[in-house]
Amino acid sequence: MRLFSIVPVLFLATLAGTVYAQQSLDAMIDRDIGSLVQTYKTLHAAPELSHREQKTSSFLATQLRALGYTVTEGIGKFSRPEWSGHGIVAVMKNGDGPTVLVRTDLDALPVEEKTGLPYASTLKTKNDAGLEVGVMHACGHDIHMTTLLGTAKMLSELKPQWRGTLLLIGQPAEETIDGARAMLNDDLYTKFPKPDFAVALHDSPDFAAGTIGVISGFALASSTSVDIKIRGVGGHGSRPESTKDPIVLASQVVLALQTIVSRENSPLDPAVITVGSIHGGTRYNIIPDEVNLQLTVRAYKEEVRQKLLASIERVTNGIASAAGVPADRAPIVKVSETEVTTATYNDPALTERLTAAFVKALGQENVMKASPIMGSEDFGYFSLDHKIPTTMFWLGAVDPLKLKQSKEGGPALPSLHSALFAPVPEPSLRTGVKAMTTAILELMKK
Ligand SMILES: [Zn+2]
Ligand SMILES: [Zn+2]
Repeated sequence: MRLFSIVPVLFLATLAGTVYAQQSLDAMIDRDIGSLVQTYKTLHAAPELSHREQKTSSFLATQLRALGYTVTEGIGKFSRPEWSGHGIVAVMKNGDGPTVLVRTDLDALPVEEKTGLPYASTLKTKNDAGLEVGVMHACGHDIHMTTLLGTAKMLSELKPQWRGTLLLIGQPAEETIDGARAMLNDDLYTKFPKPDFAVALHDSPDFAAGTIGVISGFALASSTSVDIKIRGVGGHGSRPESTKDPIVLASQVVLALQTIVSRENSPLDPAVITVGSIHGGTRYNIIPDEVNLQLTVRAYKEEVRQKLLASIERVTNGIASAAGVPADRAPIVKVSETEVTTATYNDPALTERLTAAFVKALGQENVMKASPIMGSEDFGYFSLDHKIPTTMFWLGAVDPLKLKQSKEGGPALPSLHSALFAPVPEPSLRTGVKAMTTAILELMKK
């Protein structure tokens, strides 16, 4: 009998503890939300392009130092020497225990903001090609940074509740998918403790503010950029018989590439081959010497990616050879070594563990099941090929009413990277800070 009476008491005590912890976390967020929204607006109005996140990273570093973290700046080695690494690493040691990495990205996009918000970005800058472009946090990395700062404050105050080493990182150049590798190439995991777990969030226009989306297993695809130069033999437009027309060849290649996914790849393995750019020729009556194509290739499994790349090369070469293009004018297929990223794979055990904690903290109705997408992220690199359990969850960022209306056939909501993308700051940040703090406390609890 005694045994039976102890169990419910213990259960009630645990439940009461959880409820109390949630209440105090909510109260702390209530206290901080005004200044977090202000920080968000400041960051939103001051976006910087990938590889140039200097002011953003030093702002973040200053804030984290003020909260008691040991911050190192200037982390990241890129393929181009003119790009400095603007990565930051903030460490808080709190006794023995697991090391947990939490990542935010820092960069914005070359998009001219059209939201009309009072805190909209009006900045212009020069891109790598020297062209003047608008700059905007059109992917919501400003939401991620503010959430990280809010979470950092919670954890600095809740130190008695957790143990281990917390590693908060600000990663540059996510949009160009070379920032995570740049940090790892700069010995991230030897200069700083190697994490036992890595967690990140990304805002989403597909979930209402106040909710999050979780997904186990593959969440985002790998992405590989490929350049194809189709070389022909140019000449007069009136004398095709004396040429090998690269425009006709390129047209055949574009169509033939579509059959790789539909005819060579298993329908059970998601894959995309998109030709996003095709350029060739100068005038009506000139058959040019070459046509250039730019492709993006998406897949989840590495073996599928390898097969797609091999097929692209085979199909392209085959079409040129069937047209009688001389061997010394064969197409050049170049797989990018820098514009490439691994798939994001959410470790199932870690995801399940955090989902249970999210349900407790946010309520079952606010934790949605997300579907995998063929978009890409470079967060997956921090897992070192799935050796470190990692997970990324979606943070709902749009007005619930507008989302409902758009799902019922109303106006479509702006997607990430749109000049009109405008997350609703307050409820998104509240949920972001609560979810991320909950995730870390779950992994590092005493
Ligand atoms: Zn983006
Ligand atoms: Zn993003």
